[in-house]
Amino acid sequence: MADIGDRESIETDVVIVGAGPSGLSAAIRLKQRHPELAVTVVDKAAEIGGHILSGAVMDPAGLDALLPDWRTRGAPVGPTVTEDRFHFLTAQRDFVLPAALMPPLMKTHDGIITSLGDLCRWLGEQAAELGVDIFPMTAAVDVVTGDDGSVRGIITGDLGRGKDGSEKPGFARGIALLAKYTLVAEGARGSLAKQLVRTFGLDAESDPQKYGLGIKEIWEIAPALHKAGRVDHYLGYPLGADTGGGGFCYHAHDNRIYLGLVVHLDYRDPYLSPFEEFQRFKAHPSIAPLLAGAKRLSYGARAITSGGWQSIPELAFPGGALIGCAAGFMNAPRLKAIHNAILSGIAAADAVGTAIGAGRAHDRIETLKASVLDTGIGQELRRVRNVKPLWSRFGSRLGVFLSGVDMWCTSLFRASPFGTLRHRKADYQALDRASAHAERTYPRPDGVTRFDRTGSVFLANIAHDEDQPVHLQLRDPAVPIRDNLPRYGEPARLYCPAAVYEVVEEGGAPQFRINAANCVHCKTCDIKDPAQNIDWVPPEGGSGPNYSGM
Ligand SMILES: Cc1cc2nc3c(=O)[nH]c(=O)nc-3n(C[C@H](O)[C@H](O)[C@H](O)COP(=O)(O)OP(=O)(O)OC[C@H]3O[C@@H](n4cnc5c(N)ncnc54)[C@H](O)[C@@H]3O)c2cc1C
Ligand code: SF4
Repeated sequence: MADIGDRESIETDVVIVGAGPSGLSAAIRLKQRHPELAVTVVDKAAEIGGHILSGAVMDPAGLDALLPDWRTRGAPVGPTVTEDRFHFLTAQRDFVLPAALMPPLMKTHDGIITSLGDLCRWLGEQAAELGVDIFPMTAAVDVVTGDDGSVRGIITGDLGRGKDGSEKPGFARGIALLAKYTLVAEGARGSLAKQLVRTFGLDAESDPQKYGLGIKEIWEIAPALHKAGRVDHYLGYPLGADTGGGGFCYHAHDNRIYLGLVVHLDYRDPYLSPFEEFQRFKAHPSIAPLLAGAKRLSYGARAITSGGWQSIPELAFPGGALIGCAAGFMNAPRLKAIHNAILSGIAAADAVGTAIGAGRAHDRIETLKASVLDTGIGQELRRVRNVKPLWSRFGSRLGVFLSGVDMWCTSLFRASPFGTLRHRKADYQALDRASAHAERTYPRPDGVTRFDRTGSVFLANIAHDEDQPVHLQLRDPAVPIRDNLPRYGEPARLYCPAAVYEVVEEGGAPQFRINAANCVHCKTCDIKDPAQNIDWVPPEGGSGPNYSGM
């Protein structure tokens, strides 16, 4: 939190951090209802959509509310869902769960298989047509505060600073974007959101946020095996009974499948590697045949929120609000949050537009959270509130069974037999000591379905100037080797899906190495480091992956 000092500043009415579905929806709605307002959106990606990674099967409820004619306007979406199956995998077998057993709360009507990155590129065009100023390649690195502590806008990152902090030729200092209200739409585990939650105590009455790491690939498969509109979700293998999460396979357009695995970040075994679990998933007898002769087109990873109802913080702070997954509106059992990100952007935009119309600025909009939850988000998340706590307490076998019972009761009787279960711990507190587990040996890559992380990261199209300050900041550089290595085997080596962290021997002693240029901005290290010693801060704007079609 900073004052602007002598830096250059530009004034706008509303500044929005993040051009994902929530941020762009807020921008569009503001200009639809209040064309006279100046609205500015910044995004750290080189181009809009470049940092967006999702599944995705989208519930169209959000887009219907934002742009009811989105179909005729040509929004780039894939096929409507035609088949939706849930599977339980063992190491060799695949049990398809009967549709009649699936609780109605798990179903999505009119779901659409979508590349969220492509959709955001299109939403960005719609916003620009309405007069929104959109700046990609622009990271928001801090918020500006006034004398009264209220948020007055953001500070954008410097361009052209060397690794040692020096100013390189062409250096441009970050500017202050000053606004009446600031909407923070950074997605799961936003770096500004983290600061704001702490400064304003936004989580004082909510449970800790819970997260998962989603790893996704796009494959082009044989036309004979492709069924546009087919959706499969997988529970069980490769994850053990005490690790939450599951796989997905969505048949999109042009013989493409979106294949992924979400691993809940409250896993306990420090030797678990989410990336290697994903390789095992692809080698399962039910998945591997799909990939025979297929071509892997893209790779990426991103954290998702999963705390749901109990973890929703206060959204409004003096001078702005959190929206989308920066607050956390994921319906974990349905793996759906895009519609809620959009609905939260719309509701926040309406609240901010009305406040500015009434001559207000920089204050806390008391009614904003209730308006957001009233869009249907509150009711949807409240109904499935016990699913994630049941998974965490009872594991992915008994927990899944109990959560099915819970969802059936909630559907039939509008009440849960469990009341409201709390999330007891943050994910970083869940790791056991390494001594409680045996080291895992994962199969070697075969270059067919199983790959290594370095080769995979190549498919994320990363651009990152190595001569810039390291954006993975250690609060205490001694912690990884002194504390994390003996206690947990330094789990960063394994949870990072981009092989950023290594422990190497140098001069006979272990050293912690950070290959920052590989980072795909998933935020897992910021969430899972057991000492909470890693702060992910945005690197220079335009750095990181440049996903296409994710
Ligand atoms: C593997 C996976 C599968 C999923 N599957 C589905 C699904 O099938 N259906 C569904 O509905 N949902 C799904 N989701 C969830 C969905 O993708 C998210 O809910 C949604 O993307 C959240 O939107 P958002 O606008 O809040 O944030 P995001 O989409 O994360 O967008 C945030 C944007 O902010 C930018 N940004 C962040 N910090 C800064 C900063 N400091 N400065 C500048 N820019 C910044 C980022 O570059 C990004 O462009 C899935 C998510 C994952 C990871
Ligand atoms: S360094 Fe952190 S944010 Fe970057 S890819 Fe690895 S775990 Fe994700």
